[in-house]
Amino acid sequence: MHQTLLLLPGDGIGPEVVAEVRRVAEILVPDLKFENGLVGGASLDQHSVPLTDATLELARRADAVLLGAVGGPKWINVARDKRPEAGLLALRKGLDVFANLRPAYCFPALVDASSLKRDIIEGLDLMIVRELTGDVYFGEPRGIDTDANGYRRGYDTAVYTHPEIERVTRVAFDIARGRKGRVCSVEKSNVMESGLFWRQEVTLTHAEFGAGVDLSHMYADACAMELVRAPKQFDVILAGNLFGDILSDEAAMLTGSIGMLPSASLGAPGTPGLYEPVHGSAPDIAGQGIANPCAAILSLEMALRWSLDREKAADALYAAVGKALDKGARTRDLGGTLSTREMGDAILAAF
Ligand code: ATP
Ligand code: MG
Repeated sequence: MHQTLLLLPGDGIGPEVVAEVRRVAEILVPDLKFENGLVGGASLDQHSVPLTDATLELARRADAVLLGAVGGPKWINVARDKRPEAGLLALRKGLDVFANLRPAYCFPALVDASSLKRDIIEGLDLMIVRELTGDVYFGEPRGIDTDANGYRRGYDTAVYTHPEIERVTRVAFDIARGRKGRVCSVEKSNVMESGLFWRQEVTLTHAEFGAGVDLSHMYADACAMELVRAPKQFDVILAGNLFGDILSDEAAMLTGSIGMLPSASLGAPGTPGLYEPVHGSAPDIAGQGIANPCAAILSLEMALRWSLDREKAADALYAAVGKALDKGARTRDLGGTLSTREMGDAILAAF
């Protein structure tokens, strides 16, 4: 039985970096089957919607989905629900991916390129697990209206249910078991009821499903500080949607280039994960063949690890990227001169 990887290149530099993912995957996992689909502006142009039902169905049936990027200036005036970005949201919703994984690590060859001191980031390897479908981004009621005193007001609702917290917490525990075994759960239980509930539920989930995992808790503001002061103290950070959003962007900046950062979004066990580089469609450099393909290639690495059960191939790919960087392979964002394709070549040559 062949495993299927659905490639959704999308817009801007998406197709350029996903082409390198495919080249690498064809060599590394020759038995993997590929499918292709449109998402974002590319789908909008062809089908008048940013994600068709047929493409969503392909995604649901795949073992993993690898997306390039969506959006660009061409579609800036399109109605909100038809924007390229709506295609990505529909995909996340359609696959019910509720755990967003964003690693922050720095390849040894790039440590000196960071603006942070060597001893702060050398050997840095942390994973942020962010809940992706709940919290203040989706809670009801929300709105802008006038209150009883006649004042205009804007408001949202931060809410988490027991199953929402339990399922993402279990993902964090599973991930920690394959790492250093430590999870730091982050909230503001000192000032928020939803935060207090989060801490209680994570603690209960730990008692039931946390064997072998060392759980600690931290307030989100303290965590933001600690991430900059001493990020190596963390193994896995578990957070709700809002704090996870902020902390994962903060952690991303520890490691330097946006061209190096992958992400994964996971749903229930046995359902396809969605893998994508953290960067966007980068319209300013699209079509020039100079984008760094590493973030997309490292997203493949995550797909091999978390959806396709091919840990050895994942390890080999991670090592090859590190080796290519050690040998000096650099795209422009890393201060070098290699094209997207040449960077792909350098990684292939490092196997
Ligand atoms: P989005 O709204 O889609 O997230 P954005 O404007 O926030 O887009 P990006 O599209 O990620 O961000 O681009 C931010 C900057 O980083 C741009 O100058 C872009 O050229 C650069 N950049 C992004 N990805 C890469 C890459 N893979 N290689 C080189 N440079 C990149
Ligand atoms: Mg952005």
